[in-house]
Amino acid sequence: MDDRFTLALIAHDGKKDDLLRFAREHLDVLRELRLVATATTGSLLAAELGLEIERVASGPQGGDLQIGARIVTGEVGAVVFFRDPLTAHPHEPDIQAVLKVCDVHDVPLATNRASAEILLSRIEEISHRR
Ligand code: PGA
Repeated sequence: MDDRFTLALIAHDGKKDDLLRFAREHLDVLRELRLVATATTGSLLAAELGLEIERVASGPQGGDLQIGARIVTGEVGAVVFFRDPLTAHPHEPDIQAVLKVCDVHDVPLATNRASAEILLSRIEEISHRR
């Protein structure tokens, strides 16, 4: 069984470059984790950085809900969600659902780079202790 820590990654279009930069700077730790992402985000990270990453549907097609379901079942240990708060999204209810289930299930969620830095350094500590 794969007992690696599972991190979910999602980035809105206006934030995908930011996530790519963030991931590039943390490649070592990301390579040690089990990664799941929405479709376009995952494809970008796999193509640009060679990361092994499971892809669910694209966010607007229900991918956020798929990630949300895994949060509910305890399969996702943390979420990095680079939201674009200045753009309207047709799947806004799905986005809110992800935020909600993180809070309901006490799953750490970083929605901006500064938080993601702190979250990832903590995950690194935890995964090295396993
Ligand atoms: P995407 O989905 O990674 O497929 O672009 C993210 C989103 O827009 O919610």
